[in-house]
Amino acid sequence: MYDVVIIGAGPAGLTAAIYAARAEKRVLVLEKENFGGQITYSPKVENYPGLMTVSGNELAEKMLEQAMSHGVDIELCEALGVRDFGEKKVVQTTDGDFETKTVIIAAGSKHRRLGVPGEEELIGDGVSYCAVCDGAFYRGKDVAVIGGGNTALQDAVLLSETCRSVTILQNKPTLTGEHRLEAILRSRENVKIMCGCTVNEILSTGGKLDGVKITDDSGRKSDIKVDGVFVAIGQVPENEPFARVVSLDGRGYIVSDESCTTLTPGIYAAGDCRTKEVRQVTTATADGAAAALAAIRYIDAI
Ligand SMILES: Cc1cc2nc3c(=O)[nH]c(=O)nc-3n(C[C@H](O)[C@H](O)[C@H](O)COP(=O)(O)OP(=O)(O)OC[C@H]3O[C@@H](n4cnc5c(N)ncnc54)[C@H](O)[C@@H]3O)c2cc1C
Repeated sequence: MYDVVIIGAGPAGLTAAIYAARAEKRVLVLEKENFGGQITYSPKVENYPGLMTVSGNELAEKMLEQAMSHGVDIELCEALGVRDFGEKKVVQTTDGDFETKTVIIAAGSKHRRLGVPGEEELIGDGVSYCAVCDGAFYRGKDVAVIGGGNTALQDAVLLSETCRSVTILQNKPTLTGEHRLEAILRSRENVKIMCGCTVNEILSTGGKLDGVKITDDSGRKSDIKVDGVFVAIGQVPENEPFARVVSLDGRGYIVSDESCTTLTPGIYAAGDCRTKEVRQVTTATADGAAAALAAIRYIDAI
């Protein structure tokens, strides 16, 4: 039986693995598609302390290598559910069942995609889902923010401080974020707000993003020239398989306390998959450490 089974090999899961393995626990990490998680989509990370600039892939590889060097087992398979038998839990996967004393769910979340032509191939190359992460690469350039809720408006405020122009493209008739943020944006000369318009395609020439094709509220199609597109239409956690053993909030995120402990003893949630304010690599790794230390305390007490 494992001491700790970790679901997800993103920054949160790999950090939890390093902490638990260094405490001499038997650790298994399950990953369904991409060792390193979301950060592997980022060509350049400039806000991870200690590393001035690093590609997301390189950062993920270093985390994976560090976890493996401590003897962590890794399986490429999908966790389909968790069954709780008190001091024993069973993680059901596409490769069979794994018995364990504790489970750390670090399944992350996905940025909701627009689902239009051009988007997928330009991710990390003009299309971004994170203004905090990538905004600095567009200093002095023209960008579009797609969405009109709080995240989109916060992104637009941040980008308008360094970009030449920011065009907000919202499909609803009005912005839906806080009025305070809308007021700030309306007072800025480099911000243009366009409501009631749908983005149909992300445009590029020779692999370089150069605009978006939109249909406005009167049905007229046009192209808007921009250097970067920030998509801010929400995030989707992938926590349904675990809904029987943990509580989910109204948006599907796992409810846990500051030590990442859920309402079920021996089950923890770390990183972007849990209810929290800031979803970044630093906060994911912090959660991974907290969850592993809480799991270790639980194992040592049973
Ligand atoms: C394009 C992009 C750029 C970014 N840039 C930055 C940046 O510059 N700086 C920064 O701090 N943050 C950045 N972020 C955000 C950062 O990547 C995330 O906050 C961080 O990766 C969250 O880590 P996590 O481990 O919680 O989740 P994730 O990285 O999402 O990892 C979760 C892992 O769990 C796996 N998984 C999910 N369900 C299952 C299952 N049922 N069974 C098995 N495996 C499962 C997933 O496949 C995934 O690999 C960026 C995000 C994106 C998308």
